[in-house]
Amino acid sequence: MYRTHTCGELRIENAGNEVTLAGWVQRVRDLGAMTFVDLRDRYGITQLVVDENTDKAVADALEELGREFVIQAKGTVRERQSKNKNIPTGEVEIALSEINVLSPAELPPFTIQDDTDGGDDLRMKYRYLDLRRDVVRENLVLRSKMAHAVRNYLNSKDFIETETPVLIKSTPEGARDFIVPSRMNEGQFYALPQSPQTFKQLLMIAGFDRYYQIVKCFRDEDLRADRQPEFTQIDCEMSFVEQKDVLEMFEGLTRHMFKETLNVEVDEFPWMPYAEAMEKYGSDKPDTRFEMLINDITETVKGKDFVVFDSAEYIGAICAKGCAEYTRKQLDGLTNWVKRPQIGAKGLVYVKCNEDGTFKSSVDKFYSQDDLKAWAEKTGAEAGDLILVMSGDKKHMLDALGELRLEMGKQLGLRDKNVFKPLWVVDFPLLEWDEESKRFYAMHHPFTSPKPEDIELMDTDPGKVRANAYDLVINGVEIGGGSVRIFDSELQSKMFSLLGFTKEEAEAQFGFLMKAFKFGAPPHAGIAFGFDRLVSLFAGLDTIRDVIAFPKNNAGRDVMIDSPSAVAEAQLDELNLKLNLKEKK
Ligand code: ASP
Repeated sequence: MYRTHTCGELRIENAGNEVTLAGWVQRVRDLGAMTFVDLRDRYGITQLVVDENTDKAVADALEELGREFVIQAKGTVRERQSKNKNIPTGEVEIALSEINVLSPAELPPFTIQDDTDGGDDLRMKYRYLDLRRDVVRENLVLRSKMAHAVRNYLNSKDFIETETPVLIKSTPEGARDFIVPSRMNEGQFYALPQSPQTFKQLLMIAGFDRYYQIVKCFRDEDLRADRQPEFTQIDCEMSFVEQKDVLEMFEGLTRHMFKETLNVEVDEFPWMPYAEAMEKYGSDKPDTRFEMLINDITETVKGKDFVVFDSAEYIGAICAKGCAEYTRKQLDGLTNWVKRPQIGAKGLVYVKCNEDGTFKSSVDKFYSQDDLKAWAEKTGAEAGDLILVMSGDKKHMLDALGELRLEMGKQLGLRDKNVFKPLWVVDFPLLEWDEESKRFYAMHHPFTSPKPEDIELMDTDPGKVRANAYDLVINGVEIGGGSVRIFDSELQSKMFSLLGFTKEEAEAQFGFLMKAFKFGAPPHAGIAFGFDRLVSLFAGLDTIRDVIAFPKNNAGRDVMIDSPSAVAEAQLDELNLKLNLKEKK
């Protein structure tokens, strides 16, 4: 037996017990008469000690130990002289009687402790050492617990966990596919799934009724902040349901996860139409932990000879509570912030609502005290508040005000990581117009059903059609999305033609699905949660990298195994592929 206990287990009640522990040497402290070793495993740290009573051979063996050696230690549990209140094992230590080095260790490239001295690159290169650190491993323990909670809940609701293939077929819709050459089918390629969407729909046609899978998905996109080329979804589908049934089921799942893993009870999830989210929060993923809503003040402020406003399509404002005292420097800071290319606003107008009931604005030349009072009324601003105003193209300004709102929320400490505000955003548009390619794209995906009452608009004003599509948003983060599906092959063909597919293209890409619809398709709907993002939200982290055991870096590389990498010529020959690299500059 390698060990009788873990390094996190022994307590004062164990005093006098003969025990065997195994683990990694965290550190050795030689105090002359006594030497202490902190022995660490996943469960905790236990102090080992040798003193003048210890056998000389054991004391000598300690001399050889270095950080991260794996050892087995035998001895007697005893009460410590100086107790460490910070750790559960802090009242005891092990008086050593035997020590065996199981595996020596080279000096690690960074310290294995919560506040490590290792930089990002080094930590990723030696990720297995990084994962020895409690703070990193705890995130993965949480991830495991959450996956457990998902399975428990969905199994209890009769969902069938089903695996779908990883080698599938490339489709032009959506993000870029990762493709895999087929050796047995020369010149042909598989694609890795961006999601199991069509398979889960086929499982509904197969009568599975309720399906789920915790599944890897792949998208070959440029890695903007916080994306990984491979990521995990909790993918689900249900038959004979309406939108409401799906939202209830997955609100239940989300609550269950909160309760089981964080012991947090969350309020009922409100439903917010997409249009309202855009108007009031400037985002389809509103952070509802705080108010500071966007107000349309276009009508209120026009007609006072201020050309900037008079010529603008839209003028919007937010009210920052208690910020009337912002200094010149702070206001300049905000102005520069909105002028950055990421936000791209031309400028920022402010109105301070002074405590004495007067107003001070950056446009006093054009607006009287009465005018400004009207602004305050329109935005709900009171004495002590600061109104921030932006003007321009409506879509752009809502976006910019939405960003400014988040920034102000951050500055004012309103985005508390321990507060969770989930909601459903519903009634998304079915289609999105792309100016560049002059065509519609599916906002969610081509299998999403229009709202029945909007189907007529598909012929007359497709941009206006709303979909039975929904997103789960928590604290300004899109956690999941799904839709009620089209289950009629006629309507599906119509959708493909709206998306600019010819009949032949639709047939070649999705013929199998439309064919399947002809064999008795039940009404169905589903959702997929971004599991990585959900875990990072629960863990209070800003990035998904820290909840993935072996993540890729921003260049899509795994620096530990050094991938992607070149392959042998023979492998390429076998695939009948020729490398034709453009010359590097
Ligand atoms: N497959 C969709 C996605 O990956 C989710 C869904 O509609 O169920 O976004």
